[in-house]
Amino acid sequence: MWIGAWWLGQIQEYAPHASLWFPPAGVAFAAFVVFGPRAALPLAAASFLVTMRLGEIYGTDFPVSNLVLAGVLFSAAHAGAYGAGALAFRRWAGRGVPRAVTVFLLVVPASALLAALAGAYSLALSGLIPYDEALAILLPWFIGDFVGVVALAPGFAAVLERLAGTTGTRTSGLLAAAARLGPARPGLRALSARLLLCILPLAASLVLLLGFERRDLASSFIVFFAVVPLMWIVHTEGAIRTFFSVAALSTVIAGAGALVGPGDHTTSYQFAMIVLAGSAYFGLAVPSLYADNENLRRLATTDALTGATNPGPFLEAAARETERARRFATPLSLVLLDLDRFKAVNDTHGHPFGDTVLAEAARRLRAGLRESDVLGRLGGEEFGILLPMTEVAAATETALRLAAALRDTPVTRGSATTTVTASFGVSAVDPSAGFEAARERADRALYEAKRLGRNRVEVAPPA
Ligand code: GH3
Ligand code: MG
Ligand code: MG
Repeated sequence: MWIGAWWLGQIQEYAPHASLWFPPAGVAFAAFVVFGPRAALPLAAASFLVTMRLGEIYGTDFPVSNLVLAGVLFSAAHAGAYGAGALAFRRWAGRGVPRAVTVFLLVVPASALLAALAGAYSLALSGLIPYDEALAILLPWFIGDFVGVVALAPGFAAVLERLAGTTGTRTSGLLAAAARLGPARPGLRALSARLLLCILPLAASLVLLLGFERRDLASSFIVFFAVVPLMWIVHTEGAIRTFFSVAALSTVIAGAGALVGPGDHTTSYQFAMIVLAGSAYFGLAVPSLYADNENLRRLATTDALTGATNPGPFLEAAARETERARRFATPLSLVLLDLDRFKAVNDTHGHPFGDTVLAEAARRLRAGLRESDVLGRLGGEEFGILLPMTEVAAATETALRLAAALRDTPVTRGSATTTVTASFGVSAVDPSAGFEAARERADRALYEAKRLGRNRVEVAPPA
């Protein structure tokens, strides 16, 4: 694969040693990510073999000893730089996409720079090029390697991972991770159409640059517009197809760069490849960032066992609703309830069954409420319900309905079964007295319900 990639870069050269990118760097990085240090030997062998043929390719007669030295030094530089980079990536990428993308985009230029430095000077050291040429090709070498890895490594890694999987070799799990990000959609029609849209800006740029001899920089900047359809692919087609779309698009852009020839345009094409690839990978991270935020918000506001609102957010909602009731002179009611003899449920059937009962009780309460009502878990088996726009009489009816919903159907799991009942205290919230006063009144009513024998609803007298 490394030699094939090298050949791909070779046919896209526009001058000796100069093409927009260096695809083998992508193979090297991917191989180290998928296989770890085991990739070193085959990669070094491939780069050694290619170096041995440099004289033939460029029509220069290098002594064999110089070629051998260059081959040894270059393969060590190449495998060393990308091995170090990929192993750093494996170590620091973690499990989340945003972090993996960030680490990838930091590690890749660093290892490309190292590969370029060590590579150029190993050619100079072995007499294949003069030292001042090594200095001159440093920057294009660096950018070419950078582009090759950024644009191609994820796609190569996906291929290597699949090959390794079919031969039963243990792999890095990259494919599984990518599939979790979003499996590929069936059918390739939509993908091909979107890829075609990605290539349109490039085509426009080529027409302007070659057809109309408009050799100003702006004509090559049009390529950056491909980011729009590429984002469409990122957000609809899943990670694996994104990797291959980035690879395909970059291959076409690099080919176009060879057509356009040397000059400032090729630099803008190279930066287009880097920016397109970087945005695509970061685009993959965006949905998981949203999901993380949503998850955190849910964790912070709701109780994991019952799905009811936690005490803090419940009191915030109570303050908000009390203020609204005051401002618009609308009724607001509060219901407090506490499951009866719940300790006995735990004692008889065990704590896990107690948890099941709590979750089921909360589910029944929620089912008997309006969307605009707020159900909070205020303590172990004590719940509060805010009923906006509800008079105390209607709130009492609701409480009676909820009491029946709990009582009428026993909760069963396996051989354990129990009837749940609760005691309820209802109060009208008087906004001028504040929510806390209403809560105390509802609490006293609840205590009264317990005292009168439980499994009943008591209403607090008006304040
Ligand atoms: P009463 O009718 O007077 O309310 O009797 P009770 O047994 O319900 O009252 P008490 O407050 O003494 O006991 C409440 C019990 O609820 C004690 C505690 O073990 C249980 N409990 C509180 N939170 C949880 C929970 O998250 N899971 C389970 N399984 N039990 C809980
Ligand atoms: Mg209780
Ligand atoms: Mg209690």
